[in-house]
Amino acid sequence: MMPAPRGVGAEPVKTQPEPSGESLVDDARVRAILAAMLAELRRDTELVTQIDALDSKLTASLTRDQLPEVLSSLTELVGQRIQRIERAKQEIEGLLSHMVGKLDEIGQFVADQNQNQSQAQASSETLNVQLAGEMKAMGESVESADDLQQIRLQVRSRIDSIDRHLQEFRQREAALTSAMQARSEQMLSRITELEAEANRLHGQLKDEQRQSMIDVLTKIPNRLAYDKRIEEELKRWQRFKQPTCIAVWDVDHFKRINDAYGHRAGDKVLETVADCLAHRIRGTDFLARYGGEEFVMILPGTELDNALRVVEEMHAAIARIGFHFRGTPVSITVSSGITALLSNDSAGAAFDRADKALYQAKANGRNRCVSN
Ligand code: GH3
Ligand code: MG
Ligand code: MG
Repeated sequence: MMPAPRGVGAEPVKTQPEPSGESLVDDARVRAILAAMLAELRRDTELVTQIDALDSKLTASLTRDQLPEVLSSLTELVGQRIQRIERAKQEIEGLLSHMVGKLDEIGQFVADQNQNQSQAQASSETLNVQLAGEMKAMGESVESADDLQQIRLQVRSRIDSIDRHLQEFRQREAALTSAMQARSEQMLSRITELEAEANRLHGQLKDEQRQSMIDVLTKIPNRLAYDKRIEEELKRWQRFKQPTCIAVWDVDHFKRINDAYGHRAGDKVLETVADCLAHRIRGTDFLARYGGEEFVMILPGTELDNALRVVEEMHAAIARIGFHFRGTPVSITVSSGITALLSNDSAGAAFDRADKALYQAKANGRNRCVSN
């Protein structure tokens, strides 16, 4: 079953005056598509006020005359949404290029450290050569000296120059060490900044990903989240062969609710049904709004018989909710189809089986579950 777009339905609201002149836009599908677009735009919290204004135009009877104006407001909102997404993208790109700059600095630091190390090596080699030269010269001068006084003077002068070499060496070492220390400190602070930026970026991306997986109206996972989850569950199932069931749900005669009480009432029904189902599933189960007035559930570790029992209790719970619209009690029921995962199942094949069972449940009189 394809996900039906959120719809409004023609609405015989008695309290609203019939707009005179132009004919009404009574094509429920057009209004449902417009409402679905608004629901998508609602993800952008900064657009909510404008969306609410437009939404109320859709809820009230819409004339053909008003349609161009509604469409142009919608286009304007879509434009704003795109601009905001574009800005967020630019912000992330800016952050990334900033991070790349920092990584370059770290690369430079490693190169500098290598150079420092070769300088240190060259410096100690110089010292070695100088010391060896001094020792050799000292040996020669001792050999050629005529008396003790001369030897004493020559040894003294060699010791002085050895001392000088050592002092120069120490100065070179100290300069290298302090340069290295300064660079290390600088790098440490770069790495800390980089870590903080990477964490911020990660958090931002995670937030956006989470947002894109949640249905705006019912606040439960959406179809995208289901598609991801079912693939994970299939892999788990292929590995552990734990019995796993999928149930597809569809609100009965939902169009009538929209038509009779308006799409806000319809929305309320969807929220309440989603709440009811969400409160009854186990921690390891998964519930998503698949689209329109359809929900899908994954029940890992549950045999078909047990899953059927659980689902039937959910049916009873929904039937007990007791909706009231305009002071009138309205009974809301749902139908469902359920299937167990089979070997070599694909997500699509399993869903189709459950969906066929759902179709059967509708044909058998609704407010029931059929397994397949
Ligand atoms: P059935 O028992 O055979 O399922 O009948 P039905 O009326 O529920 O089935 P149908 O698929 O004909 O109608 C579903 C309606 O749900 C059509 C669409 O306008 C409406 N709808 C889909 N999404 C939303 C939504 O988000 N909010 C509201 N209020 N209505 C929605
Ligand atoms: Mg449906
Ligand atoms: Mg339905």
